[in-house]
Amino acid sequence: MKFDEDRDEVIQAMKESKIGTITVGTDLKNSKEAVDLANKHENLFTTIGLHPNDNHEEEFVAEEYEKLVQNKKVVAIGECGLDYARLENPEAEKKRQKGIFDQQIEFAVKHDKPLMIHCRDAYDDCLAILKSKQQIYGQKVRGNFHFFTSPVEIAKQCLEIGFTVSFTGPITFVSEYAEVVKYVPLEKMMAETDAPFAAPMPYRGQRNSPLYVQHIVKRMAEIKDLSLETVKKQLILNTFDLFLNKAS
Ligand SMILES: [Zn+2]
Repeated sequence: MKFDEDRDEVIQAMKESKIGTITVGTDLKNSKEAVDLANKHENLFTTIGLHPNDNHEEEFVAEEYEKLVQNKKVVAIGECGLDYARLENPEAEKKRQKGIFDQQIEFAVKHDKPLMIHCRDAYDDCLAILKSKQQIYGQKVRGNFHFFTSPVEIAKQCLEIGFTVSFTGPITFVSEYAEVVKYVPLEKMMAETDAPFAAPMPYRGQRNSPLYVQHIVKRMAEIKDLSLETVKKQLILNTFDLFLNKAS
């Protein structure tokens, strides 16, 4: 959609800059599209899943996702999770979100995949659900909290259950995020763009692109007072570690 006019050019520019990315599915339809696209390009991987509210489908139809999950380019289940911001009918909506989140955790465990978590205004419930699943399945319940903008106290709880957190463009222009970026160990963080949203400086307000991830990584290195090379290398190791390794 947002890249319909120049998708090939963006992917080509990424290849030239040696940038790979994990695209995300937010419902069945675009999960299928994302798998097709990832199959065409060696530097693209993808998640498949049903977003808590940014989707056009009510149900997580596991049988349909079963057809996609065997694909080698599928590296995680999500974006899934909870999003309690701006709910019209909170009680019913929270119940629905928890239901499809539960199904996707079970699905991820079954296929030994990490989770790509979308969590907004819902960390208490989200962490409680993940902890209770870890009581049953242990570290098979693993993953990354994407677009992390919460304070240190929440980051601490995410790390305690063994999850990573990923940072996005806003760390390049919101100074308060420096504290949590500093707090999270380099081995436990990821960089992402969430393109087409939330472009980093110097592109703030424009359409975001996977190419701009370098500006986020650069800002991380500044905040952590480490060399860009050190940060880049570790982020790549972290990505391989979470998305391409098996838990068992
Ligand atoms: Zn999200």
